[in-house]
Amino acid sequence: MKSTRDSVFLDGRPTASAGTAQFTVVNPTTEEPYGNYAIGTAEDVDRAVTSARRAMAAASWQRTEVEERCDLVLRLRDLLAQEAAELAELHARTLGTPVTTGRHLGGAAGLIDMFVDSARRSPWEFLRADPGGRTTLVTRQPVGVVAGILPWNTPIRSEVKKVVPAVLAGCAVVLKPSPEGAFTSFAFAELCTKAGFPPGIVNVVPGDGATGEALVRHPGVTKVAFTGSTATGSRIAAAASPAFKRLQLELGGKSAAIVLDDADIGRAAPILSRANWGNSGQMCVSLSRVLVSRSRRSELVDALVEHAQRQVVGDPRDAATTMGPLVNRTQRDRVLDYLQTGIDEGACLATGGAPAPTSERGWFVPPAVFADVQPTARIAQEEIFGPIVTVIGYDSLDEAVAIANDSPYGLHGAVYSTDEQRALDVARRIHSGSVAINEFYLAPSAPFGGVKQSGIGREHGPEGYDSFLEYVSYDIPAALATSLRAHGLRDG
Ligand code: NAD
Repeated sequence: MKSTRDSVFLDGRPTASAGTAQFTVVNPTTEEPYGNYAIGTAEDVDRAVTSARRAMAAASWQRTEVEERCDLVLRLRDLLAQEAAELAELHARTLGTPVTTGRHLGGAAGLIDMFVDSARRSPWEFLRADPGGRTTLVTRQPVGVVAGILPWNTPIRSEVKKVVPAVLAGCAVVLKPSPEGAFTSFAFAELCTKAGFPPGIVNVVPGDGATGEALVRHPGVTKVAFTGSTATGSRIAAAASPAFKRLQLELGGKSAAIVLDDADIGRAAPILSRANWGNSGQMCVSLSRVLVSRSRRSELVDALVEHAQRQVVGDPRDAATTMGPLVNRTQRDRVLDYLQTGIDEGACLATGGAPAPTSERGWFVPPAVFADVQPTARIAQEEIFGPIVTVIGYDSLDEAVAIANDSPYGLHGAVYSTDEQRALDVARRIHSGSVAINEFYLAPSAPFGGVKQSGIGREHGPEGYDSFLEYVSYDIPAALATSLRAHGLRDG
C-alpha cells in the first residue's frame, strides 16, 4: 500500500501544497516506503493561519455556545472510536505501534470526556468583589489561534491534547505533525470535518523543523502548544519570545521510580515493565531510572529481566506482538549507541543488547536492562527514548531522593512500597510534575507537565483547558454589579 497526499489541510479539506519537496514515510517494520507528502512551506503556513483566523472570527463560530462545541468534540470522539481499528493499522505501518495497544488511541476518548467536563464546569464570566470595595467583572475569552506542534510517539492522543481543549475554548488550531506522524494528523483532521467542525477550525501543515518554526514565528499565532524534545522546545521558546507568545511546552524526561525496601516486587515489576517496554520505550513518561534499595537489588533485577524476556518483539500488526520496531533508523541507531555507551561505562547488561546482524528488516531493538548503573553515567542522565532501563542501587532513603532529583528533567516519577503513606512521603520529596504511587499512569484529569527542563505549563484537567483561555477584567460600578448579580451572575 502506498499513499500520497496533497499535503495541506485547510478550510476543512485537503489542498495542494505550494511546495514541491517531498517527505517519504517509511514503514519501520519492512523499511519500505508507506507514502509521500509535500513538505509544507512558509506560504502554506500563512494560508493555514489565515484559514484559522478567518474561522475563529466568523460570527457563526463566535456565537457557538460551549455546549455546541462539546457536541462537536463528542461526535469526534465517537468517530475516532469507529475508526480505531483502521487508525491502529495506520500507526502499525507508519510508526511501528503494535495494533493491540494502538486500538486504544492513547486513551483519547477519556481525554475528550475529561476536557468536555472541564469546559462544562468552567464559567465564562464571574464577579469578584475586592476587599477594598471595588468590583471586577472577570471574563474568559479564547486565547487566539493555536499552533500545535506534535511528536510522533502518541498518535491521536497528541492531536486530541492540542485540538480538543482549544476548540472547546473557542480557538482555531494549526497542527504541525512530526514528519512520521503526518498521515495520522490528516486522518484526524478529516474526522473533525466529518464531525461537523466548521472549515478552518482545524488545519494541518505537515513538514520538518523549518515548517514548525515558520508556524511559531507567524504573527497570526497567539499560543504555541508544543510536545517534543527539550532541545526543540528551547528553539521554539527562542522563536516565540520576540512576540511574547503564550507557551505550553511538554518536553523530555528521565523519570525515576524508587523501589523502597518493603516494596512488593511481584507487583512493581509488571508496572515497571509497562513503563519501560510499552511503545518500545518511546514514551516521555518512561520510568527509565529504577532506583532500588540495595537489599532488594537482585530480586528486582531478576524480575525485570524475566519481564523483558517475556516481551514479544515483532511485526506490530501481529496480535501476539507486545513490542514493535523503533520509529525510524535514526532512533534505532541512537538507542544502539546508548547500549554501547552503557557497556563502555561499565554497567552490567543483565539482558538485551544489539540485535544480531540478520538479513531480516525492521528497526527492532530488544528490551535491555542495565544493572549497577552509576547515577552520573550518561545512560542514567540522558533521555534515550528506547527500551533501555537503568537500575541504580541506593543505601538510604535520603540517597534515593538525592539521586532521583539529580536530573535536568522533572516530568514524572513513581514510588513503590507496601506502606502507601511512606511512599507518598517519599513522592513529595521528588521534584517533578507528577509522581504515581504503586502505579505508572496518571488519570486524564490530573494536571500533567514538567518542571526543570521537562517543560512549562500543564496539560489535562481544568488547568489544561484553562491554558487556552485569556482573562479580561472590567472594573464596574457597584450598581452595575448589583444588577448583574440580580440577573444571576455569580461571584468567583
Ligand atoms: P522533536 O523535538 O524532534 O520534534 C517534535 C516536533 O517539533 C516535530 O513535529 C518536529 O518537526 C518539530 N520541530 C523540530 N524543530 C522545530 C523548530 N525549530 N521549530 C518548530 N518545530 C520544530 O521530538 P520527537 O522526536 O518528535 O519526539 C520525542 C521527544 O518528545 C522526546 O524527547 C519525548 O520525551 C518528547 N515527548 C514529550 C512529551 C510530554 O508530554 N512531555 C510527550 C511525548 C513526547
